[in-house]
Amino acid sequence: MITAYHRPESLEEALRLLARPVPETIPLGGGTSLARVKSDDFEVVDLQALGLGQITVRGNFLEMGAMVRLQTLVESEAISDALRRAIRHEAPLNLRNMATVAGTLVAADGRSPFAAVMLALDAQLTLVGGQPPALSDVAEPALNSAEGSAVSLGELLLLREDLLPGALITHITIPLNVSLAYEYIARTPADLPIVCAAVAGWPSGRTRVVLGGYGASPLLAMDGPTPDGAQIAARDAYSEAGDEIASAGYRSEMAAVLVRRCLER
Ligand SMILES: Cc1cc2nc3c(=O)[nH]c(=O)nc-3n(C[C@H](O)[C@H](O)[C@H](O)COP(=O)(O)OP(=O)(O)OC[C@H]3O[C@@H](n4cnc5c(N)ncnc54)[C@H](O)[C@@H]3O)c2cc1C
Repeated sequence: MITAYHRPESLEEALRLLARPVPETIPLGGGTSLARVKSDDFEVVDLQALGLGQITVRGNFLEMGAMVRLQTLVESEAISDALRRAIRHEAPLNLRNMATVAGTLVAADGRSPFAAVMLALDAQLTLVGGQPPALSDVAEPALNSAEGSAVSLGELLLLREDLLPGALITHITIPLNVSLAYEYIARTPADLPIVCAAVAGWPSGRTRVVLGGYGASPLLAMDGPTPDGAQIAARDAYSEAGDEIASAGYRSEMAAVLVRRCLER
């Protein structure tokens, strides 16, 4: 249970609180998952007074503060319809009004539509505090002690337990000059996906294919110079994605179908 609540007004103070080895102290975004799952005693550092709630267009990039609420992003004119659709699929309105972009990515499992589309867009995160990622663990980290470390969402999802203790995500950046499509299959339109696909295409032809619906996080099935081979990559990537919700054979076939639909869009 939460034993103490801190609301620092500077990043330095927030990092000082989070760096304490005891008591266990973790960031509080919207708080919607913290209230549900934690059983041990811990303290929280509320990030809402740190000025991390802005959405800013910088050239071909959209930079969002970690505390931007999902619903604020839905209402932003800067995002694509596919991203808007995936966020609406992530959570109902009441939850979107509370949940933050960073908290949602940190808490995401394989069924998170928001994490899937953000991974397809190759979202980059700014991390401050904590242990900087080891060079051997993370490809080309842009370390800067004053401004934090640039870490891709793909790296964060793989290394959450290593990168996050004592650290804060301050910003998340996505490209705006990329076309995005999102398709899914679920029991009902409001359910989280049994299988979903997000495909992002850059003007250069670069194509990233991400699958969701299974496992601990969405899966990057392909990052290639053209869309060629995307369906085969999707089928292969989910060839063993079986669990109590769906068989691997079903997910694998549906992944290829969804990727074809995304490419047709
Ligand atoms: C009724 C209900 C239903 C839900 N259903 C689902 C569901 O179906 N699927 C699902 O995945 N989730 C579900 N959730 C969980 C939760 O709503 C989502 O994961 C939510 O998007 C988390 O966002 P948040 O901002 O509230 O994060 P928080 O709960 O504040 O934080 C989530 C995690 O992220 C960390 N964190 C937050 N901000 C930062 C930051 N800036 N830097 C570093 N770490 C940070 C926190 O320490 C915590 O570990 C549900 C919650 C509720 C209340």
